[in-house]
Amino acid sequence: MAHSRRSRAGHGAGHWSAAGPYQRAQPWSGICATLGRVFSVRHRKQVARAPHATTCSRRDCLVAAAALSLAAIVRADEEQPVIIDLPVAGGQIELQFTPDFSDAQRERARRWVTSGAEAVAGFFGRFPVPQLELLLQGVEGEGVISGATFGEPTLHLRVRLGRDTTAAAYRDDWVLVHELVHLAVPRVPPAQRWLHEGIATYVGPLVRWRAGLLEAPQMWQGWMRQMPRGQPEAGDRGLDHTPTWGRVYWGGALFCLLADVRMRQRGPIGRGLQQALQGLQRAGGDYRVAWPLQRTLALADAAVGGTTLTDLYDELKDSASPTDLASLWRELGVEDDRLRDDAPLAPVRRAIAT
Ligand SMILES: [Zn+2]
Repeated sequence: MAHSRRSRAGHGAGHWSAAGPYQRAQPWSGICATLGRVFSVRHRKQVARAPHATTCSRRDCLVAAAALSLAAIVRADEEQPVIIDLPVAGGQIELQFTPDFSDAQRERARRWVTSGAEAVAGFFGRFPVPQLELLLQGVEGEGVISGATFGEPTLHLRVRLGRDTTAAAYRDDWVLVHELVHLAVPRVPPAQRWLHEGIATYVGPLVRWRAGLLEAPQMWQGWMRQMPRGQPEAGDRGLDHTPTWGRVYWGGALFCLLADVRMRQRGPIGRGLQQALQGLQRAGGDYRVAWPLQRTLALADAAVGGTTLTDLYDELKDSASPTDLASLWRELGVEDDRLRDDAPLAPVRRAIAT
């Protein structure tokens, strides 16, 4: 599913963004959904009937209509996407490329998808869903631009990326792992989108750390810089009622960090959010289903014993009280330039990521 500053639809329809936790939204983000459909094998006919995807704005639709006219004059063989079947632990990805990638560009992108998918499978114990269509839409230049995950009509993920993205830039990318983590969580009602984005924002770096793509100090210090964005501001009415960018992404991530710490403090220390999410997955909770938040939290809690997630949700859903982050970092031993092992909660920090 998508990470975005301004979602145009709830998880039921999938939603788009170019933003996510680290970027600002770009005004043309919604276009990608429609353009993606132009090239998507499974959805091309459907788009021809209804060029405006449900997630598009009026302006997007105009651009999409122009794209469709262009598509009509492209020769049929140039329109064909290239499809590669990619097995990953516990699942299968149908990787679709728009026709504009060279063999070398496709190979670099394929390696990036394989490494991201394996990293996510490593964190959850297996790839979160048995089958996924992943469309890579090439644009000129370098860099992974945006991603979105959709639960309907079939489970699919679209990523817009520069065809000339280098191996180093692929290695630094957070977008793909973020989107793949969304697959491991049931869709939630729109008011609780913060949980979905929070899990993807918090778990994404952990997945990358575990796969050797991110150093632990870099991850913790990144959180120390970013988590304040999730604190309530004036007029806040709690997580369920304040759908601002900061609260959705970083308020949700802070919820996850607090839950992870509390679970491990309660013990056993080796059982935290990762194990809770693995249990949720075993119970059938992934992006293919839409569940009430309480059910998702209760099943994740049950996997590790206790009611940490449910209790924390009750505490924060309607409340605007800020978290004492300075104390939290001090107790965890996270400082600007180092991680301290003599801090009281250093064992908890190490259990999360060493
Ligand atoms: Zn997201």
